[in-house]
Amino acid sequence: MSDGRTRYCKFCGEQVEFMSDFNDYYCRYCYSYQTHSESIKAGGKESPKYRIDPSPPPEAPPVLPPAWRRNIPMFRHKEYLVMQAFLSWGPKYDIYNVTGHKMGEIKGKIISWGGEWSYFDLGGNQVAKVKGNPTLFKVQEKTFDIRDHQGNFKGAIKSKFGFLKRAWELYDERGQLIGRPNEEIWLKTNFQLVDPQGRLLLNVDKKWFTFRDQFRVIVSELIDPLIALAYAVAVDYMYFQGDRSSSRSWF
Ligand SMILES: [Zn+2]
Repeated sequence: MSDGRTRYCKFCGEQVEFMSDFNDYYCRYCYSYQTHSESIKAGGKESPKYRIDPSPPPEAPPVLPPAWRRNIPMFRHKEYLVMQAFLSWGPKYDIYNVTGHKMGEIKGKIISWGGEWSYFDLGGNQVAKVKGNPTLFKVQEKTFDIRDHQGNFKGAIKSKFGFLKRAWELYDERGQLIGRPNEEIWLKTNFQLVDPQGRLLLNVDKKWFTFRDQFRVIVSELIDPLIALAYAVAVDYMYFQGDRSSSRSWF
């Protein structure tokens, strides 16, 4: 039951409203119920229900990590569930929050010199973009710029050839290295990004929901969720799925 007090979304921090039909608080900024979750239906099957904290949302706006504050609500979450569909024109992903509600989608385009992923909210507005840059002479290095909903440059993913394999590094908008892969956990089913001090920034787990391509992305408070999600999706596709089509021979 609602007690009439103003409460704030435990995920994105915006004000929530009480929905008496559902006996729960709801955030219309990030489509999150606050005390219960629903399974995601895809391909006629249902995902396991995600367990969320059942306590009511806070009465004071939660203090968000500094790197998250300027983001739109969709990019202020510490956990995302991403479902992938392969379509003839390229990959498409649906982005869900942990309450089982869709927040947006990603449309990918794979072109000869790289990839391009456009992120949209449920209203069809573009909220982020990741774009590969053609590098005509430096064939061994690929760069993907990450931009926010206003087109501001937020960071870059750089793919460099190391001794035996490519390394995928993440840089911030000032060109500083944010993190690089944890080489000990760099598998098709699970990969991590760590900062130069070895702290975990991002964990991508692909075993959560096994009947189709999907993954769970966990973002630490040390990193902006927008660039973390951008990295998870681009690297999963370019590094771990790059052998699905011969048209990606540049890989
Ligand atoms: Zn919210």
